[in-house]
Amino acid sequence: MKSSVQIGKIIGIPIRIHFTFLIILALFAWSFSTDSVTLFGFIIGYGALPIDLIVKVILGIFIAVLLFGCVLLHEVGHSYFTQRYGYKINGITLYIFGGVSQAEEIPHDPKMELKIAAIGPAISILLGFLFYVCYFLINDLGTSLNLQIMSITVGTLAFYNILLGLFNLIPAFPIDGGRILRSILASRMEYGRATKIASNIGKGFAVAMAVFGIFFNFWLVLIAVFVYIGASEEDKALQISIALESFKVKDLMTPSIDSVSPNMTLREFSEYMFTHKHLGYPVMENNHILGMMTINELHKVEKEKHENTIVKDVMRKDVVSISSDEPAISAFKTMMKNNHERLLVQKNGEYLGIISWSDLLRAMKMKGV
Ligand SMILES: [Zn+2]
Repeated sequence: MKSSVQIGKIIGIPIRIHFTFLIILALFAWSFSTDSVTLFGFIIGYGALPIDLIVKVILGIFIAVLLFGCVLLHEVGHSYFTQRYGYKINGITLYIFGGVSQAEEIPHDPKMELKIAAIGPAISILLGFLFYVCYFLINDLGTSLNLQIMSITVGTLAFYNILLGLFNLIPAFPIDGGRILRSILASRMEYGRATKIASNIGKGFAVAMAVFGIFFNFWLVLIAVFVYIGASEEDKALQISIALESFKVKDLMTPSIDSVSPNMTLREFSEYMFTHKHLGYPVMENNHILGMMTINELHKVEKEKHENTIVKDVMRKDVVSISSDEPAISAFKTMMKNNHERLLVQKNGEYLGIISWSDLLRAMKMKGV
């Protein structure tokens, strides 16, 4: 996560900037300071004004920052509602494609999801409307240079906020409109099916957007790829969570009292693995867990060195454990987050066994994912 930097907090939510965001900010700032195009009656950019380039560049940076401030408000809207419903927000990150509000979990309740998704486009359209009113009033005052600068500023903000609001209403995951569509479908049918339909519609839009983009605007092709991947991932993640919904960690774990000693050589460990038939074991000494030793760590060491290397030197020391009463989906998320294939299962500090990636896969297969 070193590719993004925290710049502050809004209502307790950390705001981060990804390095790719600076590229788009610079591109926008440059384009606003050098171009001047008329779109739907709005003059976008200061390029045509009779002022020094340096002033135009300063204005361009100013308006680009304001514009992304508006994108941020859109994301803060999503985050605010997510938090209000009791879900945790890890932060908001601004990327090249715009903002992403990172919720730990999205509620599977259609009403909540509808509000969380709809608030973003609603804020953008409202901002656009307010800027439009200002634009209208300023244009009425006259055409002096200062008024022209103000008119272009609020006009550009009006145009882009409305565009952002409308674009986000396209019913394609992971765009807000896709979530709105799913929540509407989910109030009429089972959640998994609603997601499947919404994500297929999202993929359809992505393909259409890509084809259109090839001919008209290359940015659309990039956004289409992002939408397509997002739609597939959203569907997959939900099918997994539905499949694991009915299980707890204790239902899927491999109960085990097997453990290995830290001073065992790797040759001894591989023999132990063959006789005990599991691919990972906690490393214990005096009833204390020191780490985890698995086939992955074993394979990292060349075979010739197995005789002279001990478990303690190659084991994974960052053991992650989970309670046996937690839902199985928590084990899945913990594994993804920590990049671990095995978690130690415990209850009240007592070691009960191991839950592995393959235990979860087996359960998903049984449920047809
Ligand atoms: Zn949004």
